[in-house]
Amino acid sequence: MKKLEQLYEGKAKKVFKTDDPNLYIVDYKDDATAFNGQKKGTIEGKGIINNRVSNHLMKMLEKNGIPTHLVEEISDRETVVKKVTIIPLEVIIRNIAAGSLSKRLGLEEGTKLKHTVLEYCYKDDALGDPLVNDYHIYAMGIATKEELDLIAEYSFKINKLLSDYLKDLNIELIDYKIEFGKTPDGTIILADEISPDTCRFWDSNTGEKLDKDRFRRDLGNVEGAYHEIMKRLLGE
Ligand code: ADP
Ligand code: UDP
Repeated sequence: MKKLEQLYEGKAKKVFKTDDPNLYIVDYKDDATAFNGQKKGTIEGKGIINNRVSNHLMKMLEKNGIPTHLVEEISDRETVVKKVTIIPLEVIIRNIAAGSLSKRLGLEEGTKLKHTVLEYCYKDDALGDPLVNDYHIYAMGIATKEELDLIAEYSFKINKLLSDYLKDLNIELIDYKIEFGKTPDGTIILADEISPDTCRFWDSNTGEKLDKDRFRRDLGNVEGAYHEIMKRLLGE
């Protein structure tokens, strides 16, 4: 397959057309941003780690019945994916209070939630990705009730599969963000990435943060944390 022109450059990835109208190539960068792009930096080797970690986790999910965009990893930083129209929602799942939830509700970081929390943010950089609920989503025509029900069902299944998988590697899945897209025939599949950029991972024993919070909060050893996740997941 041939990599054709770049369609889009985002904060963490570039997306390219291919000579197959149903496939894109995503190319993972080392660029890191936080706080809606206000903080910028580079995490050396991040693109390679996120590409490999995301593909590894998507493969596991696919094996367990979750349809994903993953087609084939073709290099350290590049993966062929199914082309989708992204549903402009950040679907956030939380098992333990942290980050913006802790701030919003005054819950100390690390508080175990009595029930899994599912949140939606409307993907719009200019608006700062505002929190929305089901009714906003129907009202704006972002998704139908049937589509959103399926997204929620997949999201909870993904949470169980990921949490169990990571627990065996001594990693606690605190919270994460996923995105879904629609293929040309209308099928909803998991897209984008699942990586230390988009999840909070804490070491189960020490509580050490092994994710992008090390960059957001200037905690040091950012590269080391990303490497540790790759080592635990892929053994290298
Ligand atoms: P951002 O746009 O937030 O800066 P990225 O740098 O990760 O994020 O850019 C990747 C873009 O590609 C995102 O907008 C994401 O929604 C989109 N995307 C991810 N997977 C697919 C896919 N399979 N088909 C089409 N677009 C995708
Ligand atoms: N997240 C993300 N992209 C975003 C916002 C959040 O990947 O644009 C992830 C984030 O890494 C965390 C979860 O979603 O794992 C919940 O993030 P939160 O709402 O606490 O926001 P933050 O503290 O990152 O501002």
